[in-house]
Amino acid sequence: MRLSKSLIPTLKETPAEAQIASHRLMLRAGMIRQMASGIYAWLPTGTRVLSKIAQIVREEQDAAGAQEVLMPTVQSADLWRESGRYDAYGKEMLRIMDRHERELLFGPTNEEMITAIMRDSIKSYRELPQIPYQIQWKFRDEVRPRFGVLRGREFLMKDAYSFDLDRDGAVVSYKKMMLAYMRTFQRIGITAIPMRADTGQIGGDLSHEFHVLAPTGESGVFYDAAFEAGDAMTATDIDAFYEQMTTIYAATDEKHDTAAWDKIPAERKREGRGIEVGQIFYFGIKYSQAMNFAVTGADGQKFFPEMGSYGIGVSRLVGAIIEARHDEAGIIWPDAIAPFKAAILNLRQGDATTDALCEKIYASFGNDALYDDREERAGAKFAEADLMGHPWQIIIGPRGAANGMVELKRRATGERFELPVKDALAKVG
Ligand code: ATP
Ligand code: MG
Ligand code: MG
Ligand code: MG
Repeated sequence: MRLSKSLIPTLKETPAEAQIASHRLMLRAGMIRQMASGIYAWLPTGTRVLSKIAQIVREEQDAAGAQEVLMPTVQSADLWRESGRYDAYGKEMLRIMDRHERELLFGPTNEEMITAIMRDSIKSYRELPQIPYQIQWKFRDEVRPRFGVLRGREFLMKDAYSFDLDRDGAVVSYKKMMLAYMRTFQRIGITAIPMRADTGQIGGDLSHEFHVLAPTGESGVFYDAAFEAGDAMTATDIDAFYEQMTTIYAATDEKHDTAAWDKIPAERKREGRGIEVGQIFYFGIKYSQAMNFAVTGADGQKFFPEMGSYGIGVSRLVGAIIEARHDEAGIIWPDAIAPFKAAILNLRQGDATTDALCEKIYASFGNDALYDDREERAGAKFAEADLMGHPWQIIIGPRGAANGMVELKRRATGERFELPVKDALAKVG
């Protein structure tokens, strides 16, 4: 993308309404604009990050054997009357009336809808287990939307739902999702700790939340420093992995167990704030029973499948990653989800040799570089590249260009390298 002709409206001033770093930086870097309270438009760089995160989430859901579907955002109130949640959900649900005065709603989550779809399609135990999932916008009329995309009203969520024959099967699905989540966070380039959590609105008896540690997090978290995320990419034994993730103490304030906490040596106790980026639940037959989704078992008897649900806040992750990775100058993107692999900074726009080298390097990236081809001071280009947080900056001036040399800057460490073009491109990868 050429910066001179792109919709990246960076701001020099710090927007007054933004109280925390990620919100400020997303506005200043031109990633998002607020369209109404808690409702955001995603501009090109924001959209690119969101899509890259969604793609990693998708690949790991697929790898776990889940199947992607896409359900509507607008749902019928009758569906929610079947589970009894239409009244129970309260004011967080955005209720809509159509022209025929039929009651609709903008989905805050999809347990009812997916259960209705399964009820319609799945008749025999032979067709289970299944884990359908989607990456779709949700709406919750939050009482206090704040912190930008961290607590929006409209937000992008990956939601998966498992359907199993029995409790043991459901626990296997739960463990598979735990592994898929840890792989997802590892690939994205952040640490999220699974914590024992309350089941809240969804109901049920087993749940973990995944928290990114940040002082601005809305949840209080307590964990044993002996916790190690380990390498989820190489984990092969799913039971051993689950054990490792869940036996060392980690809990949110809602589930904090002071007796267990007191047994942990003082020097290992860690207390802080966390941003909830995902949550998984096992809740048995709560919805299959309420909505009468029964299948025929091996013995010819009908039974209600055992269910779980699994959410990841895809749009919230964008903010959470920035909370965990920024400095005074701006965002520091992990490589895997950066809007662009690199920024190409032309320090002498209009100089034939410099322009030619920049164009050649830009072309070699396909669409994965941002070319700062504006007629701007070098200082302004550096500041904007730092603000936007590209993992690499390829800095090209007339002197280097004449000798086929460029300067490479690594955003995360500030390291700089003077390299021949070929070596610089190899390093960026
Ligand atoms: P919170 O405790 O922050 O209100 P929640 O527990 O109500 O979140 P879940 O029902 O567990 O949310 O939804 C799954 C995931 O969706 C959450 O872990 C979070 O990452 C994301 N999410 C929930 N509400 C919002 C929101 N208002 N804005 C952005 N992401 C959200
Ligand atoms: Mg909530
Ligand atoms: Mg929560
Ligand atoms: Mg939750």
